[in-house]
Amino acid sequence: MFYFSFQNSFKNFPNKAFAVDLFSNQKTTLHFTSSILPSLIITFTANMHGLVIKSTGSWYSVLADDGERYNCRIVGKFRIKGIKTTNPIAVGDRVKFDLEKDSNQGLINELLPRKNYIIRKSINLSKQAQILAANLDMAILVVTLASPRTSLGFIDRFLVTAEAYDVPAVLVFNKLDLFSKEGLEILQEFKNIYENIGYPCYQVSATKGINIPVIQELITDKITLISGHSGVGKSSLINALLPDRDLRTGEVSDWSDKGQHTTTFAEMFELPQGGFIVDTPGIRELGVIDIEKEELGHFFREIFKTSHNCRFNNCKHVNEPGCAVIEAVNNDEIAISRYESYLSIYHGNDTRH
Ligand code: GDP
Ligand code: ZN
Repeated sequence: MFYFSFQNSFKNFPNKAFAVDLFSNQKTTLHFTSSILPSLIITFTANMHGLVIKSTGSWYSVLADDGERYNCRIVGKFRIKGIKTTNPIAVGDRVKFDLEKDSNQGLINELLPRKNYIIRKSINLSKQAQILAANLDMAILVVTLASPRTSLGFIDRFLVTAEAYDVPAVLVFNKLDLFSKEGLEILQEFKNIYENIGYPCYQVSATKGINIPVIQELITDKITLISGHSGVGKSSLINALLPDRDLRTGEVSDWSDKGQHTTTFAEMFELPQGGFIVDTPGIRELGVIDIEKEELGHFFREIFKTSHNCRFNNCKHVNEPGCAVIEAVNNDEIAISRYESYLSIYHGNDTRH
């Protein structure tokens, strides 16, 4: 590494002023970072801005505002208040970095504020969280009514998660070419449930190319996460949206055989019309994050709206007297399937599949 060689040669310099003078005819930036002190890091071409489009854990591929891609590492420590993370920076992050002289390698020195981020908590006791992606503009859940069937419970869990992360969610019903007349009626029922509460629904066939231009337009200039059960057609959809990239379909993605650590690998693919698709095995099935029982109702849009009319302001909508949510379910104003999903998550039952 370029900066390590300079680091060593500066060890004998009496002070940093001397080091600066030495390069004063160049655009030089000096960093002192707690993790590497007392060494100096010398970099050139300061204050580049870019978007992190790939992360392998220690290296980040950054698409700079000048349109070039740079391999970057992190300088110093980045911390996010309140959570312990294994990786401080993720795909979708906007960063500032300094470029090393005559190379396409850079050092990230600042993380710009995020509008949202999604994490995966470790299941062991360390309670560490891994940031999977940041600054998502949209999360698409690919849904199929048959082979395989996506349950309403799974859809609702996904939507709760998206609400909790503050990522706008849409549903894309795939394999439209396989639908019978009866299937189309069920599709309409499903769409009614979700469109009524404000989630846009689309129906496509990834392999037959039906309605793909609609999705293309939908994701233009956005950072979009594509999620869903294995087998619903995520790879096929991504292939249809990114004609130049050929994802292998019908296979479980796994990079571990190439020595990559699967848990830290994530990548975004640039769309020809502008925007990015986030694809990483770790977030293909976005699970439900920890949500306090008391807060669960906040993440069901229609339950949250209706709950203002409950008699008790701490109503859990389970069996309380004067519960406006239960009344709305009885009056068919709230879909029974949605309320069942609420109760199921509330009681800690796993109906994900
Ligand atoms: P993934 O596991 O979600 O990435 O799903 P794949 O893209 O690998 O698709 C799983 C299977 O469904 C493959 O055999 C695809 O050819 C098939 N498939 C995907 N989309 C469609 C579609 O729109 N119509 C039909 N008939 N099959 C599809
Ligand atoms: Zn209530």
